[in-house]
Amino acid sequence: MSRAPDRADLLVEGIRAGDRRSLARAITLAESTRHDHRELADEILEALLPATGGATRIGVSGPPGVGKSTFIEAFGVHVLDQGHRLAVLAVDPSSRRSGGSILGDKTRMGELSQRPEAFIRPSPGGGHLGGVARRTREAMLLCEAAGFDVVLIETIGVGQSEVAVADMVDLFALLVAPGGGDELQGIKRGIMELADLVIVNKADGDLAAAAGRTRADYASAVHLLRPKWHAWATEVLAVSALTGAGIAEVWEAIERFCAAVRGNGELDAARAAQASAWLWSEVGDALLDRFRADPAVADQLPAVEADVAAGRLAPPRAARLLLEAFAHRP
Ligand code: GDP
Repeated sequence: MSRAPDRADLLVEGIRAGDRRSLARAITLAESTRHDHRELADEILEALLPATGGATRIGVSGPPGVGKSTFIEAFGVHVLDQGHRLAVLAVDPSSRRSGGSILGDKTRMGELSQRPEAFIRPSPGGGHLGGVARRTREAMLLCEAAGFDVVLIETIGVGQSEVAVADMVDLFALLVAPGGGDELQGIKRGIMELADLVIVNKADGDLAAAAGRTRADYASAVHLLRPKWHAWATEVLAVSALTGAGIAEVWEAIERFCAAVRGNGELDAARAAQASAWLWSEVGDALLDRFRADPAVADQLPAVEADVAAGRLAPPRAARLLLEAFAHRP
């Protein structure tokens, strides 16, 4: 099937009008590695920038099996029932996720994927975390421009992707299972510190009592962490994504969070800092690309790397040599 050539102005118009196909296409362009696609994506994003910023941006993380997919389904439907429009995006640098992901397996998304007020976008495939994070940021802004007023970004609770997600959302929610401390659940302390909301899932049936204890454990643990916000202290909630118990309270907590950090200007400041960090990471990525592609650097790189690996050359001196070659190229 052939398609009409992409035109930035038409896609911009479509996205503004809330057209899902235009939105999906623009996200695909933003994810593309083709130079002409990237240029179009940049143009589209620039045109739409004034229409962005209107969403509540939520990150959801947690170890595999904790119930992220089930939670996002139940929570998402609740949010839609409150009259919102929801976009669900994923950050998964490994890209070869199987089984557990609702995003990889739309049949698990049941009701949510059927609702016209929801937009679900699977993880961009492959690439390093930096690239995936950038594309997810762009996708988030495009969704906002298309009128989605709640954007949820899912990530698996292992590795660096949590930090990347926490860096692009307003509120970061960590899902944990009943029983077992952070270490048992494979949650790093650094990740705990990112959480504005800790959600103990599976508080139902035989697990209800254990969920209550886990909630109390986390509630005392988060007290010891350095607070991220003046206006908000991390809350710990127990829910059952399966029965829906506690799901309304999660949304209610998010609304209280937004009111608090908007009210004292912290949210605006945090978003400004995130935008600035994004700028610098773009500059860093672009510089590294140019550095690696530079012929003078490429000439010296194998020998310098070998010398460093063999301990014949100290890395700081090696870096200086390469940077001088880069700076002094004709
Ligand atoms: P993910 O890997 O984090 O996306 O987890 P899933 O949503 O795929 O859930 C993993 C398993 O936990 C599935 O068998 C779910 O049915 C189950 N599960 C999810 N939420 C709950 C819950 O609230 N209560 C109970 N009892 N089981 C749940």
